Amino acid sequence: MIDLHTHSTRSDGIDTPTELVTKAAACGISVLAITDHDTTSGWDEAIAAAQNSGIGLVPGIEVSTRSEIGQGRRISVHILAYLPDPEHPELVAELKKTRDARVNRAREMVDRLAVDYEISWADIEAQIEPGATVGRPAIADALVHLGIVPTRSDAFTSILHRKSPYYVSDHSLNTIEAIGLIRRAGGVSVMAHPLIDFPAGASALDLPNEHFERLIGAGLEGVEVNHRSVPDFARRWLVKLAQRHNLIQTGSSDYHGLGAKENELGENTTEKAMLDRIVAQAEGFEARL
Ligand code: AMP
Ligand code: ZN
Ligand code: FE
Ligand code: FE
Repeated sequence: MIDLHTHSTRSDGIDTPTELVTKAAACGISVLAITDHDTTSGWDEAIAAAQNSGIGLVPGIEVSTRSEIGQGRRISVHILAYLPDPEHPELVAELKKTRDARVNRAREMVDRLAVDYEISWADIEAQIEPGATVGRPAIADALVHLGIVPTRSDAFTSILHRKSPYYVSDHSLNTIEAIGLIRRAGGVSVMAHPLIDFPAGASALDLPNEHFERLIGAGLEGVEVNHRSVPDFARRWLVKLAQRHNLIQTGSSDYHGLGAKENELGENTTEKAMLDRIVAQAEGFEARL
C-alpha cells in the first residue's frame, strides 16, 4: 500500500514523524509520504524511522496557496510538493514567510476569541511543538483543552468555521507561483483534495476547467483524485481531466493521527505506476525506497 499524504507534529498531526512512520509500517504501508503543512522539518526524522521500519519514504510538503478562480473569487488550494530540494533558498524563504504569516493570523484569531473566552496565546503554544506550522487545528486543540468545545471537529464546525466572526483568512503564495517555485526546486506538484469545496450536485459544466488548465499550464503534474473529501462526481471528472492531460493520479489518507481527524492510514492509496512517475519526474531530492 502506498499512502502519499500524511501529517505529523511538525504541523497539525498528533504523531511525531517517528510514530507516524512506525504506525504506517504496522498497518502494512510499503511507501509513505510525510507532507506536513509548509515545512520540511519532519523529513530527517521520518527518513531515519522509515529506514528502521523497512518501509519506503517520499518526503514532501503540503503547500498552502491561494488561487483566483474568476469573478474576483479566491480559493484556498493545497499543493502537495513531492521531493523538492529542501535547501532551495527561494523555497526555504517562501515556506518561512507562509509559516510566519500563519502565526500572525492565528494570533489575530486568538485575540478575537479572547474577547469572549478565557484563552490566550500561551494556550495555543502549549498545544504545539516549537517550530511546528500553526493553524486552526492548534487553536481547536486549545479550545478542547480549555473545555470550551468537546472535540477538534466540533471546534471546526462552530467557533473556527470560515463563516465565524473569529475566523481570519490566511495569507499564502499564489497557486501558479507556488507551482513554478516547486518545479524550480526540483519537486513534483500534485493538487491535494481537489474540488472539496465545490457544491454537491454541481454539473460537470460548472466545474472550473479553465482554472485547472491554467494550473496545468503552469506545471501542475498531478491530482489527488482518491481522498475522502473529494466527492464522487468530482472524482469522475478529475479522472477524465487527468487522462486528457496525462496527469499523475494519486490517492491518499491525509492522516493527522487518530482522534485529530477520522482519516485512517491507507484508507486511500496510490498505484505503484503513479509513484514511479513522481519519482522519475522529481529532481530535487531522492526518494528513500
Ligand atoms: P488552516 O489551514 O489553519 O485554516 O486549517 C485548516 C486545516 O485544519 C486543514 O488543513 C486540516 O488539516 C484541518 N482541518 C480542517 N477541517 C477539520 C476538521 N473538521 N477537523 C479537524 N481538522 C480539520
Ligand atoms: Zn492538516
Ligand atoms: Fe489539505
Ligand atoms: Fe493534508
